[in-house]
Amino acid sequence: GQCAAVCPTGAIVEVDETHEVLKAIRDENKHVVVQIAPAIRVAIGELFNKAPGSITTGKLVTALRDIGFDTVFDTDFSADLTIMEEASELVDRVVNNKTMPILTSCCPAWVRFIETNFPNLLDIPSSCKSPQIMMGAMVKTYYAKQTGINPANIVTVSVMPCTAKKAEARRSELSNDGFRDVDYVISTRELGQMIRYYGIDFDNLEESEFDNLMGESTGAGTIFGTTGGVIEAAVRTAYELLTGKELENVDFKELRGLKGIRSATIKLGNRDFTIGIAHGLGNARKLLEEVEEDQNKYDAIEIMACPGGCIGGAGQPYHHGNSEIIKRRQEALYEIDKNKPIRKSHENPMIQKIYKDFLGEVYGAKAHELLHTTYTPREKI
Ligand code: SF4
Repeated sequence: GQCAAVCPTGAIVEVDETHEVLKAIRDENKHVVVQIAPAIRVAIGELFNKAPGSITTGKLVTALRDIGFDTVFDTDFSADLTIMEEASELVDRVVNNKTMPILTSCCPAWVRFIETNFPNLLDIPSSCKSPQIMMGAMVKTYYAKQTGINPANIVTVSVMPCTAKKAEARRSELSNDGFRDVDYVISTRELGQMIRYYGIDFDNLEESEFDNLMGESTGAGTIFGTTGGVIEAAVRTAYELLTGKELENVDFKELRGLKGIRSATIKLGNRDFTIGIAHGLGNARKLLEEVEEDQNKYDAIEIMACPGGCIGGAGQPYHHGNSEIIKRRQEALYEIDKNKPIRKSHENPMIQKIYKDFLGEVYGAKAHELLHTTYTPREKI
């Protein structure tokens, strides 16, 4: 059966869709594609007695295949895609003197928060869909085209760190040609239960790789899972777009950490670029109040609703507010980033291929149709 619990703020509606996912997997007419968010791989191990911050990406991919998913893609890939669009939007706004600051739009809890609390500021969030939704849109169009599978028979499933991602997938504007970008969302803990239900011995699994059409990612895509990571990823690409020069040191340490609200000014060529970062909705409110007072204070803002960002999401293994656990998960994401051969989204060869073969121009017409969205003022419930 389905159980639903409604959060008192109305921001989060939790529905366990595990049964729908299992049904789709058992239905031989359905082709089920799963994606996993960056934060999952550094946390799910805790459900199987591993230390916080253990990196279990390869085992996770094997577990998903053993459960019966037909294709396993990586949300880190679509985070790279998000950066292509978001960094281009940022550059467009800077160069053409459009509305500033730009706000990151990958956290649906915060998007809903701004829609209900700051309806006068809806022209500042980036119009980019979040990585999970971009992946869903690409699976039902690009992947469907490449494989010849009718999108009507494709079911897209996301493993996400939070319940807000479930509500996001149900937003009516996040669909294309009558197909929802993402059909079902399960949390990290729900996937853990599924792995147990199938009797999979997680700890002893072999490691395997994502499916390659949309499985290859850069370090920039990985750090989307932590506070500060999205804006650092965006800056790595925006720098090169704005200056035409190669960025040699990709580590923007001044954007990292776990302080609730922080800001840093970095140089993008001859421009000073001031960035504000907040995690936790109380901090987000304070930052947005600053923006309301003075829209010129920041050039870009990153907000994530959860402590530490998605690594501390409500669908993750319980951390009971233990900042040591959050810190370990954060370190693990930066560790993955550091060890990736490519650390800038625009250098991801599969991303370059997708634009060449399918999307056309970055931030162009087709990209807008599939990868961008709109915001609506909403009543508080
Ligand atoms: Fe979900 Fe929290 Fe990440 Fe926002 S910060 S997307 S609410 S896990």
